[in-house]
Amino acid sequence: MDQKEERGPWLQKVITDFIETSPENTLKNHAHQKAFNAPLVGFSSGDDPLYEDYREHVGPFHMTPWELLAVTYRGLHIKAEELTVISWILPQTETTKLDNRKQDIYPSDSWARSRIFGEEVNDKLREHLVKCLKKEGYRAVAPSLAPQSSIRISPKYGYASTWSERHAAYASGLGTFGLCDGLITPKGKAMRTGSIVAQIKIPPTKRPYTNHHEYCLFYTKGTCKKCISRCPAGAISENGKDKELCYRHLIPKTRDYVTSNYGFNGYGCGLCQTGVPCESKIPGNKDV
Ligand code: SF4
Ligand code: SF4
Repeated sequence: MDQKEERGPWLQKVITDFIETSPENTLKNHAHQKAFNAPLVGFSSGDDPLYEDYREHVGPFHMTPWELLAVTYRGLHIKAEELTVISWILPQTETTKLDNRKQDIYPSDSWARSRIFGEEVNDKLREHLVKCLKKEGYRAVAPSLAPQSSIRISPKYGYASTWSERHAAYASGLGTFGLCDGLITPKGKAMRTGSIVAQIKIPPTKRPYTNHHEYCLFYTKGTCKKCISRCPAGAISENGKDKELCYRHLIPKTRDYVTSNYGFNGYGCGLCQTGVPCESKIPGNKDV
């Protein structure tokens, strides 16, 4: 595997095989349910101007792909154009979505498991991919697992991470943002997302959109707003999501509920991601 055109399909296969065949893809419940369905994968170049834009938009603490590689491999001369961001979408299963659709205040057991154990699957996928790339001789780093990863306060958006998985997915052609801040992808908004950065050249995935809100019916047609009524915390309005209100619902309310009712340390909500027209697809007018 050393031809540039073969690297994309190879990485796509590594990610898909992990989710479809690894026993790590589990909600850790009695039924041994899978955490995620087959993934979507996209690529963006390390010198994509969007990554510089994010620093201005989110805050100067938001790291670029080049910075991540440069601090991980100190002393090496690395150019941004030599890098690729490999991003993926892990869609929730039909069972998890169905369970959470029925909820109106707290998350279902499977959704809360997906938030905690599903994210462990996501971390294992990040580690697996970095390992596979290194084995083939490519330098790679998982931004969310890097020692520099932290939560900061963005002047515009409040709590924000030093690497936004959703923004990496947007840059990699995988979806656009909805009114509730979630990323609407061809598999919908009920998903988790992850990425790694590697010193490998792969043709970027074409972004099939020109606007960062293109898939949301509220921003394009002024309709829908279903995520507003789904939110038990009143955190979503026509002005977007109030992260502070959302967070206060997650911790301690859903945390206490999950511990007492489901018997594990977790939290979650995702009501705005389920039972809405953009849950499992890019919504159209007839879905409202
Ligand atoms: S539920 Fe409707 S308004 Fe909310 S993000 Fe989805 S498409 Fe947009
Ligand atoms: S995760 Fe829950 S509390 Fe937060 S915005 Fe969505 S529905 Fe509201």
